[in-house]
Amino acid sequence: MANTFPGGVHPPESKSYSENRPIEILDAPETVIIPLSQHIGAPASPIVEKGDRVLMGQKIGEAKGFVSAPVHSSVAGTVKKIDFHIHPVTGRYEPHIFIQNDFTDERAAELDIFGENWEEIDPKKIVEIAREAGLAGLGGAAFPTHVKLSPPPGKKIDTVLLNGAECEPFLTADHRLMLEFPNDIIRGLILIGKALSAEHLGICIEENKPDAIRILSERAENTGIEIYPLKVKYPQGAEKQMIFAVTGREVPSGGLPFDCGCYVQNVGTAKALFDAISRGKPLYERIVTVSGPILKNPSNLLVRIGTSYEALIEKAGGATEDIGKLISGGPMMGLAQSTDSVVVTKGTSGILLFGLDDALSRPELPCINCAKCVDVCPVNLMPTRIADCGEYNKIDMAQRLGALDCIECGSCAFICPSDRRLLQNIRFAKSEIQRKIAEEREKKSN
Ligand code: SF4
Ligand code: SF4
Repeated sequence: MANTFPGGVHPPESKSYSENRPIEILDAPETVIIPLSQHIGAPASPIVEKGDRVLMGQKIGEAKGFVSAPVHSSVAGTVKKIDFHIHPVTGRYEPHIFIQNDFTDERAAELDIFGENWEEIDPKKIVEIAREAGLAGLGGAAFPTHVKLSPPPGKKIDTVLLNGAECEPFLTADHRLMLEFPNDIIRGLILIGKALSAEHLGICIEENKPDAIRILSERAENTGIEIYPLKVKYPQGAEKQMIFAVTGREVPSGGLPFDCGCYVQNVGTAKALFDAISRGKPLYERIVTVSGPILKNPSNLLVRIGTSYEALIEKAGGATEDIGKLISGGPMMGLAQSTDSVVVTKGTSGILLFGLDDALSRPELPCINCAKCVDVCPVNLMPTRIADCGEYNKIDMAQRLGALDCIECGSCAFICPSDRRLLQNIRFAKSEIQRKIAEEREKKSN
């Protein structure tokens, strides 16, 4: 197999800041602020009120529709209020549930516990528990897991791949998870394979994590699970690129992995599925890398969902100089934040701090038609032309050029010698196309 994909870039890995730092537990804060929207799809609806006592792991927001997920309290305590708070993904003020922690960690009994009998679970029950536990992709996309585990009728999935590539610079949360919880990850993969009746199970890891490749290879012995070392290249962790690297199959334009018989899930989500089924634990905490050149003690922290970024930064020793940029996620696909009062959600893989020098944006220069952006695009698009369409509002043309296939990896912007704002303009074009499609659909339904 190719064990890589066409295109891509090689940004500095910058993982040495935190890759050797074992996972540490961050104490739960006095107040958690839990967003009702932590996943792709409709936000959850609150099912608690001000003054209610809630337990750790208790459902406090119910999924609204199929593509949605419930949310759970990450502490035991009292609901102080349901109010608007700034959201790290949208940057807007959105509804959050504020819970005063009573520090008892009294746990709710929301889910069935299969314990040692986890392998005997019925496949349909796996999907049901994934939903009830509020599982969503922990790699950052936060797509509801139960939806992903329910492919349309007639779509046969024969291959399940766990994504342990962690190709974004700086991020090491998945790396540490693979080193410290390899058995849980393997069991989670077996459960996903069972839910989908898939024959081939594999774990994909970039070659810059030889210790994780070694330990998972040892633990996967006699399970039939393959470990796939992948070339170190960004965006190796994008699911379509990973599928091509391992199977040689191509997800068709506008399609999804199940269109070529594949399913990809993050290693953290596999562990969360095992936790839900074996231990009855909903998704109310996750591992977050806190790193960056100006952070005193870069770390990998196990934190309760709803903890402020400020608390994580403080635990990691704070900044050694003035902060120029705070990013949620990795530097390639992450989102710049305006405040550290935003909170950890199910999709928060990392928090990065950069100094003022790194935050300076260089002036945009004219395109020199070097075609470097075309060479690196892993989806074989013409980034410069689509970006121009976004800039000059030629939305139909952007759609014809395949803008919706863009995975927003940022490789084109990274390589551009003229510092063109390619990704911003492509994102704008995509959002306008999606708006146009939604309007047309609404017109037809009226
Ligand atoms: S056009 Fe999209 S997919 Fe292609 S390199 Fe740019 S951001 Fe990545
Ligand atoms: S990489 Fe930049 S300068 Fe080169 S063709 Fe693309 S947009 Fe133009």
